Amino acid sequence: MSATPTETSSAPDATSDAEWRSRLSPEQYRVLREHGTERPGTSCHLGEKRAGTFACAGCGQPLFEQGTKYESGTGWPSFFAPLEGAVETTRDRSFGMVRTEVHCSRCKGHLGHVFEDGPAPTGLRYCMNGAALAFEPA
Ligand SMILES: [Zn+2]
Repeated sequence: MSATPTETSSAPDATSDAEWRSRLSPEQYRVLREHGTERPGTSCHLGEKRAGTFACAGCGQPLFEQGTKYESGTGWPSFFAPLEGAVETTRDRSFGMVRTEVHCSRCKGHLGHVFEDGPAPTGLRYCMNGAALAFEPA
């Protein structure tokens, strides 16, 4: 008897498009998997003040602590620092601008962009789509 080669993989980034569509809401899918941007002022996380953690809505990886969230006035949830190793960035040249795109380091889902006009101590503004985040109260 010879071993049967397996074609399945449990790697996190092997999640199929169909799986993402079934796992995420249409808005979450549009943001996380198609690099969409939600309309400003629409996120339920904007006024979130409770202690807790903002996790990736795609894979559940913790991304930001409430203590790094601040009111940027942009209409998108904003943070001055992510949890260590939680996010990765790439250059985004869409819409004729050069911006720094931010995505989850585990599932690679698109989260938003980071700009260099944030508050101390980092001077960074992680401008996130609330649809890409899932809040977990402490
Ligand atoms: Zn993720």
